[in-house]
Amino acid sequence: MTTEKFPHLTMQPGGLGQLDELLLHLDASKLFFVVDAPAYKFSGAEASLEKILGSREVTWFSDFELNPKIEDAQKGISAFRKAKPDVVVAIGGGSALDMAKLIAGCGVQDGEPIDYIKKTRTLERNGPPVIAIPTTSGTGSEATRFAVVYVDGKKYSLAHDNLLPDYVIIDPALTESLPAGATANCGLDALCQSIESIWSVGATDESVGYAIEAVSLAERNLEDAVSRPNPEVRAAMAKAAHLSGMAINITKTTAPHAFSYAVTTRYKVPHGAAVALTFPVFLEFNFGLDATNCVDPRGPEAVKERIQKVLDLIGDGSLEKTMLRLNTIIQNVGCPVRLNQVGIQEADFPSLIGAMDVERLSNNPRRISAQELSAMLDKIL
Ligand SMILES: [Zn+2]
Repeated sequence: MTTEKFPHLTMQPGGLGQLDELLLHLDASKLFFVVDAPAYKFSGAEASLEKILGSREVTWFSDFELNPKIEDAQKGISAFRKAKPDVVVAIGGGSALDMAKLIAGCGVQDGEPIDYIKKTRTLERNGPPVIAIPTTSGTGSEATRFAVVYVDGKKYSLAHDNLLPDYVIIDPALTESLPAGATANCGLDALCQSIESIWSVGATDESVGYAIEAVSLAERNLEDAVSRPNPEVRAAMAKAAHLSGMAINITKTTAPHAFSYAVTTRYKVPHGAAVALTFPVFLEFNFGLDATNCVDPRGPEAVKERIQKVLDLIGDGSLEKTMLRLNTIIQNVGCPVRLNQVGIQEADFPSLIGAMDVERLSNNPRRISAQELSAMLDKIL
Protein backbone atom coordinates (compact mmCIF):
# COMPACT_ATOMS: atom_id res chain seq x y z
CA MET A 1 0.00 0.00 0.00
CA THR A 2 1.38 3.37 -0.98
CA THR A 3 1.10 6.41 1.24
CA GLU A 4 0.70 8.82 -1.65
CA LYS A 5 -2.81 9.93 -2.46
CA PHE A 6 -4.23 8.10 -5.46
CA PRO A 7 -5.74 10.53 -7.99
CA HIS A 8 -9.53 10.79 -7.81
CA LEU A 9 -9.74 10.76 -11.60
CA THR A 10 -7.81 8.80 -14.19
CA MET A 11 -8.75 9.69 -17.76
CA GLN A 12 -6.74 8.05 -20.54
CA PRO A 13 -6.95 5.20 -23.02
CA GLY A 14 -5.75 2.08 -21.21
CA GLY A 15 -6.60 3.71 -17.86
CA LEU A 16 -8.38 0.54 -16.73
CA GLY A 17 -4.90 -0.88 -16.07
CA GLN A 18 -4.72 1.50 -13.08
CA LEU A 19 -7.35 -0.53 -11.22
CA ASP A 20 -4.79 -3.02 -9.91
CA GLU A 21 -2.68 -0.25 -8.41
CA LEU A 22 -5.74 1.45 -6.94
CA LEU A 23 -6.93 -1.76 -5.28
CA LEU A 24 -3.45 -2.23 -3.80
CA HIS A 25 -3.51 1.36 -2.61
CA LEU A 26 -6.87 0.75 -0.92
CA ASP A 27 -5.62 -2.55 0.50
CA ALA A 28 -8.78 -4.11 -0.91
CA SER A 29 -9.06 -7.87 -1.05
CA LYS A 30 -12.85 -8.32 -0.91
CA LEU A 31 -14.44 -6.69 -3.93
CA PHE A 32 -18.07 -6.16 -4.88
CA PHE A 33 -18.49 -5.70 -8.62
CA VAL A 34 -21.66 -4.12 -9.98
CA VAL A 35 -21.53 -4.70 -13.71
CA ASP A 36 -23.73 -4.39 -16.72
CA ALA A 37 -22.94 -7.94 -17.89
CA PRO A 38 -22.95 -7.37 -21.70
CA ALA A 39 -21.02 -4.10 -21.32
CA TYR A 40 -18.46 -5.80 -19.09
CA LYS A 41 -17.79 -8.39 -21.75
CA PHE A 42 -18.01 -6.34 -24.93
CA SER A 43 -16.13 -3.30 -23.65
CA GLY A 44 -13.08 -5.48 -23.20
CA ALA A 45 -13.07 -4.92 -19.42
CA GLU A 46 -13.51 -8.62 -18.70
CA ALA A 47 -10.46 -9.64 -20.70
CA SER A 48 -8.33 -6.82 -19.24
CA LEU A 49 -9.24 -7.53 -15.63
CA GLU A 50 -8.99 -11.32 -15.67
CA LYS A 51 -5.43 -11.30 -14.38
CA ILE A 52 -5.80 -8.72 -11.65
CA LEU A 53 -8.98 -10.22 -10.25
CA GLY A 54 -7.62 -13.76 -10.14
CA SER A 55 -6.18 -13.53 -6.63
CA ARG A 56 -8.97 -11.44 -5.16
CA GLU A 57 -12.32 -12.37 -3.64
CA VAL A 58 -15.00 -10.98 -5.92
CA THR A 59 -18.78 -10.93 -5.47
CA TRP A 60 -20.62 -10.16 -8.71
CA PHE A 61 -23.92 -8.35 -9.03
CA SER A 62 -25.50 -7.76 -12.42
CA ASP A 63 -29.14 -8.64 -11.76
CA PHE A 64 -30.70 -5.26 -12.60
CA GLU A 65 -32.57 -3.66 -15.47
CA LEU A 66 -31.55 -0.82 -17.76
CA ASN A 67 -33.57 1.72 -15.78
CA PRO A 68 -33.04 0.07 -12.37
CA LYS A 69 -35.94 -0.56 -10.05
CA ILE A 70 -35.95 -0.41 -6.28
CA GLU A 71 -36.35 -4.20 -6.22
CA ASP A 72 -33.03 -4.46 -8.11
CA ALA A 73 -31.34 -2.25 -5.54
CA GLN A 74 -32.73 -4.36 -2.71
CA LYS A 75 -31.31 -7.54 -4.25
CA GLY A 76 -27.95 -5.82 -4.65
CA ILE A 77 -28.00 -4.56 -1.07
CA SER A 78 -28.69 -8.07 0.30
CA ALA A 79 -25.73 -9.44 -1.66
CA PHE A 80 -23.58 -6.50 -0.56
CA ARG A 81 -24.41 -6.99 3.12
CA LYS A 82 -23.54 -10.66 2.89
CA ALA A 83 -20.26 -9.96 1.09
CA LYS A 84 -19.07 -7.10 3.36
CA PRO A 85 -16.69 -5.84 0.66
CA ASP A 86 -13.72 -3.47 1.11
CA VAL A 87 -14.51 -1.75 -2.16
CA VAL A 88 -17.37 -1.48 -4.67
CA VAL A 89 -16.39 -1.39 -8.34
CA ALA A 90 -19.00 -0.29 -10.90
CA ILE A 91 -18.48 -1.05 -14.58
CA GLY A 92 -21.07 -0.18 -17.23
CA GLY A 93 -23.32 2.67 -18.27
CA GLY A 94 -25.32 5.03 -16.07
CA SER A 95 -27.58 2.26 -14.76
CA ALA A 96 -24.69 0.16 -13.43
CA LEU A 97 -23.02 3.21 -11.91
CA ASP A 98 -26.23 4.43 -10.26
CA MET A 99 -26.94 0.93 -8.97
CA ALA A 100 -23.48 0.69 -7.37
CA LYS A 101 -23.90 4.14 -5.80
CA LEU A 102 -27.28 3.10 -4.34
CA ILE A 103 -25.95 -0.22 -3.04
CA ALA A 104 -22.85 1.23 -1.39
CA GLY A 105 -24.75 4.27 -0.11
CA CYS A 106 -27.83 2.49 1.28
CA GLY A 107 -26.24 -0.88 2.11
CA VAL A 108 -24.45 0.48 5.20
CA GLN A 109 -27.51 2.26 6.66
CA ASP A 110 -30.03 0.97 9.17
CA GLY A 111 -33.09 1.84 7.09
CA GLU A 112 -34.43 0.40 3.87
CA PRO A 113 -33.54 2.03 0.51
CA ILE A 114 -37.10 3.29 0.11
CA ASP A 115 -36.71 5.44 3.27
CA TYR A 116 -33.80 7.31 1.70
CA ILE A 117 -35.33 7.48 -1.77
CA LYS A 118 -38.57 8.93 -0.41
CA LYS A 119 -36.55 11.20 1.92
CA THR A 120 -38.02 9.98 5.21
CA ARG A 121 -34.40 9.36 6.35
CA THR A 122 -31.03 10.64 5.18
CA LEU A 123 -27.84 8.68 4.62
CA GLU A 124 -25.79 8.81 7.81
CA ARG A 125 -22.89 6.42 7.39
CA ASN A 126 -20.25 6.36 4.73
CA GLY A 127 -20.05 3.17 2.69
CA PRO A 128 -16.87 1.57 1.33
CA PRO A 129 -15.05 3.40 -1.47
CA VAL A 130 -16.77 3.24 -4.84
CA ILE A 131 -14.68 3.04 -8.00
CA ALA A 132 -16.73 4.06 -11.05
CA ILE A 133 -15.62 2.88 -14.48
CA PRO A 134 -18.02 4.02 -17.24
CA THR A 135 -18.23 2.04 -20.47
CA THR A 136 -20.40 4.65 -22.22
CA SER A 137 -19.87 8.35 -22.86
CA GLY A 138 -23.11 9.84 -21.68
CA THR A 139 -24.68 10.14 -18.29
CA GLY A 140 -21.66 11.41 -16.40
CA SER A 141 -23.01 9.45 -13.42
CA GLU A 142 -19.44 8.85 -12.28
CA ALA A 143 -19.20 12.58 -11.53
CA THR A 144 -22.50 13.07 -9.69
CA ARG A 145 -23.99 12.59 -6.24
CA PHE A 146 -27.29 11.40 -7.74
CA ALA A 147 -28.65 7.93 -8.39
CA VAL A 148 -31.79 7.33 -10.40
CA VAL A 149 -34.11 4.51 -9.39
CA TYR A 150 -37.68 3.61 -10.37
CA VAL A 151 -40.32 2.88 -7.71
CA ASP A 152 -43.65 1.56 -9.07
CA GLY A 153 -42.79 3.00 -12.50
CA LYS A 154 -42.05 6.46 -11.08
CA LYS A 155 -38.57 7.91 -11.38
CA TYR A 156 -36.76 9.04 -8.24
CA SER A 157 -33.35 10.56 -7.86
CA LEU A 158 -31.56 9.98 -4.58
CA ALA A 159 -29.10 12.81 -3.93
CA HIS A 160 -26.35 12.83 -1.30
CA ASP A 161 -22.66 13.71 -1.19
CA ASN A 162 -21.95 10.16 0.01
CA LEU A 163 -23.07 8.88 -3.39
CA LEU A 164 -20.31 10.67 -5.32
CA PRO A 165 -17.88 7.93 -6.40
CA ASP A 166 -14.54 8.10 -4.60
CA TYR A 167 -12.50 7.11 -7.63
CA VAL A 168 -13.21 7.37 -11.33
CA ILE A 169 -11.41 5.59 -14.13
CA ILE A 170 -12.37 6.81 -17.59
CA ASP A 171 -10.82 4.63 -20.24
CA PRO A 172 -12.16 5.72 -23.65
CA ALA A 173 -10.94 2.40 -25.09
CA LEU A 174 -13.83 0.76 -23.21
CA THR A 175 -16.30 2.71 -25.38
CA GLU A 176 -14.77 1.60 -28.70
CA SER A 177 -17.13 -1.35 -29.14
CA LEU A 178 -20.21 0.69 -28.22
CA PRO A 179 -22.75 0.41 -31.08
CA ALA A 180 -23.81 3.52 -33.01
CA GLY A 181 -27.25 3.70 -31.37
CA ALA A 182 -25.89 3.66 -27.83
CA THR A 183 -23.14 6.13 -28.77
CA ALA A 184 -25.79 8.48 -30.16
CA ASN A 185 -28.07 8.25 -27.14
CA CYS A 186 -25.33 8.68 -24.59
CA GLY A 187 -23.73 11.52 -26.52
CA LEU A 188 -27.03 13.38 -26.90
CA ASP A 189 -27.55 13.06 -23.15
CA ALA A 190 -24.12 14.59 -22.52
CA LEU A 191 -24.78 17.43 -24.98
CA CYS A 192 -28.29 18.21 -23.70
CA GLN A 193 -27.53 18.00 -20.01
CA SER A 194 -24.55 20.33 -20.49
CA ILE A 195 -26.74 22.98 -22.14
CA GLU A 196 -29.45 22.46 -19.50
CA SER A 197 -26.90 23.04 -16.76
CA ILE A 198 -25.95 26.35 -18.42
CA TRP A 199 -29.50 27.71 -18.25
CA SER A 200 -30.29 25.97 -14.92
CA VAL A 201 -31.28 28.17 -11.98
CA GLY A 202 -28.43 26.46 -10.10
CA ALA A 203 -25.71 27.45 -12.64
CA THR A 204 -22.45 28.81 -11.23
CA ASP A 205 -19.28 30.09 -12.93
CA GLU A 206 -17.70 26.71 -12.20
CA SER A 207 -20.57 24.67 -13.67
CA VAL A 208 -20.79 26.90 -16.75
CA GLY A 209 -17.05 26.40 -17.32
CA TYR A 210 -17.41 22.59 -17.31
CA ALA A 211 -20.56 22.71 -19.41
CA ILE A 212 -19.20 25.01 -22.12
CA GLU A 213 -16.22 22.73 -22.63
CA ALA A 214 -18.55 19.71 -22.76
CA VAL A 215 -20.87 21.37 -25.31
CA SER A 216 -17.93 22.32 -27.48
CA LEU A 217 -16.46 18.78 -27.42
CA ALA A 218 -19.81 17.06 -27.99
CA GLU A 219 -20.88 19.38 -30.81
CA ARG A 220 -17.64 18.78 -32.68
CA ASN A 221 -17.31 15.04 -32.07
CA LEU A 222 -20.68 13.37 -31.55
CA GLU A 223 -21.57 12.80 -35.21
CA ASP A 224 -18.14 11.29 -35.92
CA ALA A 225 -18.34 9.14 -32.78
CA VAL A 226 -21.55 7.67 -34.19
CA SER A 227 -20.73 7.29 -37.88
CA ARG A 228 -16.91 7.27 -38.15
CA PRO A 229 -15.55 6.49 -34.70
CA ASN A 230 -11.84 6.57 -33.98
CA PRO A 231 -9.93 6.70 -30.69
CA GLU A 232 -9.64 10.52 -30.75
CA VAL A 233 -13.38 11.19 -31.08
CA ARG A 234 -14.13 8.48 -28.50
CA ALA A 235 -11.74 10.20 -26.08
CA ALA A 236 -13.34 13.59 -26.78
CA MET A 237 -16.83 12.22 -26.09
CA ALA A 238 -15.66 10.49 -22.91
CA LYS A 239 -14.33 13.82 -21.69
CA ALA A 240 -17.52 15.65 -22.74
CA ALA A 241 -19.67 13.16 -20.84
CA HIS A 242 -17.59 13.44 -17.69
CA LEU A 243 -17.62 17.25 -17.81
CA SER A 244 -21.40 17.19 -18.32
CA GLY A 245 -21.67 15.09 -15.17
CA MET A 246 -19.50 17.57 -13.25
CA ALA A 247 -21.75 20.39 -14.45
CA ILE A 248 -25.08 18.77 -13.53
CA ASN A 249 -23.67 17.63 -10.22
CA ILE A 250 -23.72 21.35 -9.37
CA THR A 251 -26.85 22.48 -11.21
CA LYS A 252 -29.10 19.43 -11.71
CA THR A 253 -31.01 19.05 -14.96
CA THR A 254 -34.11 21.00 -16.05
CA ALA A 255 -37.26 20.91 -18.19
CA PRO A 256 -36.18 18.68 -21.11
CA HIS A 257 -35.09 16.02 -18.59
CA ALA A 258 -38.28 16.53 -16.56
CA PHE A 259 -40.37 15.88 -19.66
CA SER A 260 -38.22 12.99 -20.92
CA TYR A 261 -38.82 10.41 -18.20
CA ALA A 262 -42.41 9.66 -19.16
CA VAL A 263 -41.38 9.49 -22.84
CA THR A 264 -38.77 6.88 -21.90
CA THR A 265 -41.04 4.75 -19.73
CA ARG A 266 -44.18 4.97 -21.89
CA TYR A 267 -42.77 5.02 -25.43
CA LYS A 268 -39.54 3.10 -24.78
CA VAL A 269 -37.44 5.94 -26.18
CA PRO A 270 -33.86 5.73 -24.84
CA HIS A 271 -32.97 8.44 -22.34
CA GLY A 272 -30.70 10.59 -24.52
CA ALA A 273 -33.07 10.54 -27.49
CA ALA A 274 -36.03 11.32 -25.22
CA VAL A 275 -34.24 14.38 -23.82
CA ALA A 276 -33.09 15.55 -27.27
CA LEU A 277 -36.57 15.19 -28.77
CA THR A 278 -37.92 18.37 -27.17
CA PHE A 279 -34.57 20.07 -26.71
CA PRO A 280 -34.57 22.64 -29.55
CA VAL A 281 -38.04 23.95 -28.60
CA PHE A 282 -37.05 24.22 -24.94
CA LEU A 283 -33.98 26.19 -26.02
CA GLU A 284 -36.19 28.62 -27.91
CA PHE A 285 -38.64 28.84 -25.01
CA ASN A 286 -36.00 29.44 -22.33
CA PHE A 287 -34.13 32.02 -24.42
CA GLY A 288 -37.42 33.92 -24.73
CA LEU A 289 -37.82 34.40 -20.98
CA ASP A 290 -38.55 37.80 -19.43
CA ALA A 291 -39.00 39.41 -16.01
CA THR A 292 -42.58 38.15 -15.68
CA ASN A 293 -41.69 34.47 -15.94
CA CYS A 294 -38.03 34.26 -14.89
CA VAL A 295 -37.37 31.91 -11.98
CA ASP A 296 -33.64 32.64 -11.69
CA PRO A 297 -33.13 35.28 -8.94
CA ARG A 298 -30.31 36.79 -11.03
CA GLY A 299 -32.90 37.89 -13.59
CA PRO A 300 -33.66 37.16 -17.26
CA GLU A 301 -30.64 39.02 -18.66
CA ALA A 302 -28.25 36.84 -16.65
CA VAL A 303 -29.92 33.69 -18.00
CA LYS A 304 -29.88 35.00 -21.57
CA GLU A 305 -26.21 35.86 -21.25
CA ARG A 306 -25.46 32.29 -20.27
CA ILE A 307 -27.55 30.83 -23.10
CA GLN A 308 -25.88 33.26 -25.51
CA LYS A 309 -22.58 31.48 -24.80
CA VAL A 310 -24.13 28.32 -26.28
CA LEU A 311 -25.50 30.21 -29.29
CA ASP A 312 -22.07 31.74 -29.87
CA LEU A 313 -20.44 28.34 -29.64
CA ILE A 314 -22.64 26.36 -31.99
CA GLY A 315 -24.83 28.78 -33.96
CA ASP A 316 -22.69 31.85 -34.78
CA GLY A 317 -24.58 33.66 -32.04
CA SER A 318 -28.00 33.03 -33.58
CA LEU A 319 -30.88 31.17 -31.91
CA GLU A 320 -32.27 29.91 -35.23
CA LYS A 321 -28.89 28.58 -36.37
CA THR A 322 -28.35 26.87 -33.01
CA MET A 323 -31.76 25.20 -33.16
CA LEU A 324 -31.04 24.10 -36.71
CA ARG A 325 -27.61 22.75 -35.76
CA LEU A 326 -29.07 20.80 -32.83
CA ASN A 327 -31.78 19.36 -35.08
CA THR A 328 -29.15 18.36 -37.62
CA ILE A 329 -27.02 16.63 -34.99
CA ILE A 330 -30.02 14.74 -33.60
CA GLN A 331 -31.01 13.59 -37.10
CA ASN A 332 -27.46 12.78 -38.18
CA VAL A 333 -27.03 10.44 -35.23
CA GLY A 334 -30.28 8.69 -36.14
CA CYS A 335 -32.57 10.00 -33.40
CA PRO A 336 -36.13 11.37 -33.72
CA VAL A 337 -36.93 15.09 -33.93
CA ARG A 338 -40.73 14.82 -34.14
CA LEU A 339 -43.12 13.40 -31.55
CA ASN A 340 -45.03 11.28 -34.07
CA GLN A 341 -41.78 9.43 -34.88
CA VAL A 342 -41.98 7.83 -31.43
CA GLY A 343 -45.75 7.38 -31.43
CA ILE A 344 -46.78 10.44 -29.37
CA GLN A 345 -50.06 12.03 -30.48
CA GLU A 346 -51.75 15.27 -29.51
CA ALA A 347 -54.22 13.37 -27.33
CA ASP A 348 -51.27 12.15 -25.22
CA PHE A 349 -50.09 15.66 -24.30
CA PRO A 350 -52.12 16.22 -21.10
CA SER A 351 -51.03 12.96 -19.53
CA LEU A 352 -47.35 13.47 -20.52
CA ILE A 353 -47.41 17.00 -19.15
CA GLY A 354 -49.04 15.76 -15.95
CA ALA A 355 -46.31 13.18 -15.49
CA MET A 356 -43.44 15.70 -15.56
CA ASP A 357 -40.82 15.52 -12.83
CA VAL A 358 -41.68 18.62 -10.81
CA GLU A 359 -38.31 18.78 -9.07
CA ARG A 360 -36.36 19.01 -12.34
CA LEU A 361 -38.88 21.52 -13.62
CA SER A 362 -38.17 23.86 -10.71
CA ASN A 363 -34.54 24.18 -11.93
CA ASN A 364 -35.74 25.53 -15.29
CA PRO A 365 -35.08 29.28 -15.62
CA ARG A 366 -38.49 30.04 -17.12
CA ARG A 367 -41.81 29.13 -15.53
CA ILE A 368 -43.81 26.88 -17.85
CA SER A 369 -47.57 26.56 -17.92
CA ALA A 370 -49.28 23.44 -19.22
CA GLN A 371 -50.72 25.55 -22.04
CA GLU A 372 -47.29 26.84 -23.10
CA LEU A 373 -45.86 23.35 -23.01
CA SER A 374 -48.71 22.05 -25.10
CA ALA A 375 -48.04 24.78 -27.70
CA MET A 376 -44.34 23.83 -27.76
CA LEU A 377 -45.18 20.19 -28.29
CA ASP A 378 -47.55 21.12 -31.12
CA LYS A 379 -44.59 22.65 -32.99
CA ILE A 380 -42.75 19.34 -33.06
CA LEU A 381 -45.73 17.00 -33.46
ZN1 LIG B 1 -29.56 12.70 -18.68
